[in-house]
Amino acid sequence: MDSIHSAILFASLLIDPQAESRVLKSCLKVWGEHLTRRILSVYGIPLVEGKLASNKNGALRIAEEIGYPVVLKGASKDVLHKSDANAVIVGIENDEEFSTAYRGIIANIKSRHPNAQLDGMLVEKMAGKGEEVIIGMKRDVSFGPMIMFGMGGVFVELFKDVAFRIAPLSSGDIEEMLRSTKAFQLLNGWRGSPKYDIHAIEDVILRLSKLAVDHPEIQEIEINPLRVFPEGQGALALDCRLILKCLQELHKFTKHKDDVRGLIERFDERDMVFARQDLIRYFGKDSQQYLQYFKNRPDEEKFHTKLSNKDPLGGRNPRDAYMFRAQFGMIELLGTEGVVDGIPAGKRQSFPPERAALKIKETARLYGADLVGIGRLNQEWTYSHVGSTGGDRKGYQPWGTVIDLSGHKSAIAMGFRMDLGLLRCAPYFPTMLATAQAYAQSAWTAVRLAEYIRQMGYSARAHHFSNYQLLAVPVAVDCGIGELSRAGYLITKEFGLGIRLSVVTTDMPLCHDDPVDIGVQSFCEQCYLCAQDCPSGAIPAGEKVLHNGVMKWKLDEKKCYSYWHVNGTDCGICMAVCPWTKPQTLFHRSMAEIASLKGPHQRMMAWAERVLYGKYKPALPPDYLEPQKRR
Ligand code: SF4
Ligand code: SF4
Repeated sequence: MDSIHSAILFASLLIDPQAESRVLKSCLKVWGEHLTRRILSVYGIPLVEGKLASNKNGALRIAEEIGYPVVLKGASKDVLHKSDANAVIVGIENDEEFSTAYRGIIANIKSRHPNAQLDGMLVEKMAGKGEEVIIGMKRDVSFGPMIMFGMGGVFVELFKDVAFRIAPLSSGDIEEMLRSTKAFQLLNGWRGSPKYDIHAIEDVILRLSKLAVDHPEIQEIEINPLRVFPEGQGALALDCRLILKCLQELHKFTKHKDDVRGLIERFDERDMVFARQDLIRYFGKDSQQYLQYFKNRPDEEKFHTKLSNKDPLGGRNPRDAYMFRAQFGMIELLGTEGVVDGIPAGKRQSFPPERAALKIKETARLYGADLVGIGRLNQEWTYSHVGSTGGDRKGYQPWGTVIDLSGHKSAIAMGFRMDLGLLRCAPYFPTMLATAQAYAQSAWTAVRLAEYIRQMGYSARAHHFSNYQLLAVPVAVDCGIGELSRAGYLITKEFGLGIRLSVVTTDMPLCHDDPVDIGVQSFCEQCYLCAQDCPSGAIPAGEKVLHNGVMKWKLDEKKCYSYWHVNGTDCGICMAVCPWTKPQTLFHRSMAEIASLKGPHQRMMAWAERVLYGKYKPALPPDYLEPQKRR
């Protein structure tokens, strides 16, 4: 479904190139029928045949193309209720009637909405006879997307004969929902009257449920009416509209609020450099996965083939490589589906959300986390598809599996400090040990915390190095652990860049932390140490850029990853040189407090860092490690 997600984002920009700026200006944005039809059609919801015309000649051509009789509708984002504005004329039989109707609609809109901007005219085929129902979705603050079904006309207004269910819905849920209404009996052959196509209604509801889950940016959507034809003859949406949430509304819980400038497309884990490398290493060049992925990406294929000819990371320290392989081997075991996820206990322990959050945080610390924060799980930070599977190793979801974490509303982000002594040996082998150690600790803590939550009767999934289903850095920002830096990693006040992350997502009701502002954005604007010392030039020295809807400093991960392969190990120089990556002494903690205050002194601090410590030189590895072979 992710390709559909992309299609919608793309379609929305095609439809409305000014969308981004207008969405930012207004808090809610309404899409009329002509725009909503495009999204419904991407999801395969059947629509009455029709097209938008920008002028009268174009409209006439469409009418001739689809054949009389037709319906003519004025399309304007400023006119929500077309019928109230007399902007709909049905049963037009010929060109003459068409011209009169065209002029009439323009006059009606002008008289009722003098300032309305007309986007064009929708010309639609007259649909055959049938029954009318309403299908819609309203997003509730507590329950999420609520799917609505009801009979059209007087039934909905007079008898309030509507049913609501929370998406995502299964076929069984939909059947039960329909049967709970009186409308069902009417559609199902009440006292000898004809039966209508209930299966077609179920199909539309299923598709709408999927659309609602895929797009948290949609606040409301309505198909009114859906005309249902006799059994076996289907159904057609005759009118529809949607209300889009403004981006600030979507991100009001997040630190990214100010930096969000457009719609964010979920990231496909298969596009990560590590996942691409896995395609060569584990699946092989003849595999279906390899051929499918690289078919239209010749440049990426060349890049990764070149890397695969280099030594594996850590391979130049053969006698010590076991130290990190042991850690990553265990992380792999902790990454299997049966360990990261599971079935919650039948009986739920209930706590007020503040109390539950306190218990979770303290337990995470007890299990080994150095930092913990809880925030709303923003679905845009979840991956769309599984990509890092080590060649579909046993116990893991297969490569390309669609990821759906929509049932989890909260994320618990945890930070684990890296060993500074080892990190300062960057870009050599000891950095790999520091990385492996922190990842192993993060995995072990996350799986136990998720299990603890499941034992209390709630759904919970651990996300760690071996099995992330989300982007841990923006999630950690939303959970108030730290901020995104110029180097592309998370900076925390406590450990700077020297930290690794794991996350647990859950449906347990939890109180959320606020994102933090520790002054990183203005500090990084005035400090370029990581960019200056990065041996691959992967870290930008310039301004933030717009990337996938967010303003950020964009790390060039291919340059970084290439350097690792040239060097034979992880690098980590950026982490080691960052002025925030310091030991937890009283002096350094005080400096971190001062660094958090925005102002010109931040530039002075970055300058003083270079003067005091000089140009970056890696520390010597500890005695127990063998010297690294150099090329
Ligand atoms: S890890 Fe090394 S190569 Fe990669 S961005 Fe940091 S300094 Fe640059
Ligand atoms: S080295 Fe300077 S610019 Fe780079 S992340 Fe650290 S504070 Fe920001």
